[in-house]
Amino acid sequence: KKDEVLEANFIKSTKSGRVEWEDNVGYFIKKKLRVWCPLANGKWESGKIQSTSGDEAFVSLSNGNVVKVSTGELLPSNPDILEGVDDLIQLSFLNEPSVIHNLKYRYSQDTIYSKAGPVLIAVNPFKDVQIYGNKFVTAYRQKLMDNPHVYAIADTAYKEMMGDGVNQSIIISGESGAGKTETAKFAMQYLAAIGGGSDGIEHEILKTNCILEAFGNAKTSRNDNSSRFGKLIEIHFSTLGKICGAKIQTFLLEKSRVVQLTTVERSYHIFYQLCAGAPSLLKETLNLKTASEYNYLNQSDCLTIDGVDDAKKFHKLMEALDVVQICKEDKEHMFAMLAAVLWLGNISFQVINNENHVEVQADEAVTSTAKLIGCSAEELMLSLSTCKIQAGKDSIAKRLTLQQAIDSRDALAKFIYGNLFDWLGEQINKSLGVGKQCTGRSISILDIYGFESFKKNSFEQFCINYANERLQQHFNRHLFKLEQEEYELDGVDWTKVEFEDNEECLSLIEKKPLGILSLLDEESNFPKASDLTFANKLKQHLNANSCFKGERGRAFCVRHYAGEGQLFKLMHQLENTTPHFIRCIKPNSKQLPGIYEEDLVLQQLRCCGVLEVVRISRAGYPTRMTHQEFAGRYGFLLSENHVPRDPLSISVAVLQQFNVLPEMYQVGYTKLYLRSGQAGALEDRRKQV
Ligand code: ATP
Ligand code: MG
Repeated sequence: KKDEVLEANFIKSTKSGRVEWEDNVGYFIKKKLRVWCPLANGKWESGKIQSTSGDEAFVSLSNGNVVKVSTGELLPSNPDILEGVDDLIQLSFLNEPSVIHNLKYRYSQDTIYSKAGPVLIAVNPFKDVQIYGNKFVTAYRQKLMDNPHVYAIADTAYKEMMGDGVNQSIIISGESGAGKTETAKFAMQYLAAIGGGSDGIEHEILKTNCILEAFGNAKTSRNDNSSRFGKLIEIHFSTLGKICGAKIQTFLLEKSRVVQLTTVERSYHIFYQLCAGAPSLLKETLNLKTASEYNYLNQSDCLTIDGVDDAKKFHKLMEALDVVQICKEDKEHMFAMLAAVLWLGNISFQVINNENHVEVQADEAVTSTAKLIGCSAEELMLSLSTCKIQAGKDSIAKRLTLQQAIDSRDALAKFIYGNLFDWLGEQINKSLGVGKQCTGRSISILDIYGFESFKKNSFEQFCINYANERLQQHFNRHLFKLEQEEYELDGVDWTKVEFEDNEECLSLIEKKPLGILSLLDEESNFPKASDLTFANKLKQHLNANSCFKGERGRAFCVRHYAGEGQLFKLMHQLENTTPHFIRCIKPNSKQLPGIYEEDLVLQQLRCCGVLEVVRISRAGYPTRMTHQEFAGRYGFLLSENHVPRDPLSISVAVLQQFNVLPEMYQVGYTKLYLRSGQAGALEDRRKQV
């Protein structure tokens, strides 16, 4: 009898996912079930409870040691049969150590993809894993394989687009180096393979990656090929499901990198590729030197990347530029602008007399830059050392101080590069042009860089983090809010799952008139404004917001969702699509294969709310159909003596006839909600008839 009670309690615990130890310790001891035991180093080790005394348990760990822990700190571990499940919702016990362990186990077998309910988790392998290419595309297309994969996500998006006629989006997020860009490329590769037509536009689309990466990616301390811009690529399909065009939007290019580098980091790949790979005639025309001779590049001690041949990359880039039909003349102008940026960085200034005003040093850097941008050396020197100020109706030229001159030179370099990048995007879009045969069906893939936090954060980090807050809000809305609101509205009996909302942080940034952006706008219009007056203004108005923290002097902190602008249009665009989320995880900071740092992984899972998503999916009813839909699809399965009329009654009758257990469904006012797995069983019945 006692055993039965123990077992019944255990089964109840398994269902709720939460173990009340008072009721269950006995069962764990008797059945020798494993538990997770917290260690002093913050890690978890699996073990078995040997005995208990009061609130304390003696646990023998897998390494043989026996430790004493408070039972409240123990967490149940999953049975062996659940080792390495495909979808975290299948775990009997959902807790952090179990999730971490499950992903680790899969990672050790090179199974880098897992599901967390509707979200695909991709753990960066930092090595080639043999799970891509035509063979795998076919396998996923024909459903010969259905385990978690970016191909499966792309396939679902494609099918839903074709079937429902609704545009789709694949939203990829994760830390720098987690694998977003590579994942986006695999998704594009899959869509290109299944939607490829006779005109070969899909090859053009794939080549854009090489071009955008040359101009928008750089080696950073965290990733040798870090995207320093956000990218949304819309792939358009015809009625027959063939790719008929594409459009790429780029966001938030980090322009400061053109003029300022920290050690171990590089500027944009294109500069090194050009210096290393340009043919001699081009070198001559541009008066091009080696990378080490340019100040913008040699200010960091890093000029090359292990395992990367910049000259070879340059040749690949030239091929790609041909594929997207950038003509010879345009290419020449492009290279001239790149060389102009490099030469600009070598322009130096001389302080004249004691007034701390400057003159430009007339040297090779000035003559080269002037020739490349198409002006005279004198014009260039004048514009880099003076500024025009308005005095009544007249404007007069005023000499700049050294710092002002350096800033204006750097600003020109950033301006040229930023415009070149935008121009390139426009040219690519012209070439990929969305044609007439396009029906407006599309799949968008978003690859945007994640939250950033450095010792000193500039306006660029602020913009990147703001973009990420917006994305997090989109994620939260879809996976938490809308889902739960639907249950409530449709009268479904539902215990709310709590999740961390980021509305407060967004309001801190974008509220009018008292948000960081509005206040910055306002302060920028004051002639005497400085960093300090701005910081003080923020402290004065925003202290009540829990996401804001004023620091000493000119510093302030924004507490982002992740822990301690174009944009509205982007979010609006995504609102009208069915989203598919992919979370990339970086398993180690060394960019090496085979290393899985548990705390690093945990921190990333926590940041993006993966556990909460699993909890909702598990507790929820992922399959839902209106009563009309359900009755229409399965009503004919009812035996003849039993034909109710209204759709709701038909639905309920079907469920009863097939003995679907009451806990497996909920009848809403308008829809029927089914637990995962139930729809499959009903479909099988339907097919049998
Ligand atoms: P950032 O935000 O800095 O742009 P990211 O998330 O886009 O980072 P990636 O550039 O996609 O990161 O990945 C970093 C590196 O990890 C790649 O250069 C590649 O070496 C490796 N990598 C990522 N995903 C895979 C994969 N699926 N298979 C093999 N290697 C991968
Ligand atoms: Mg990237």
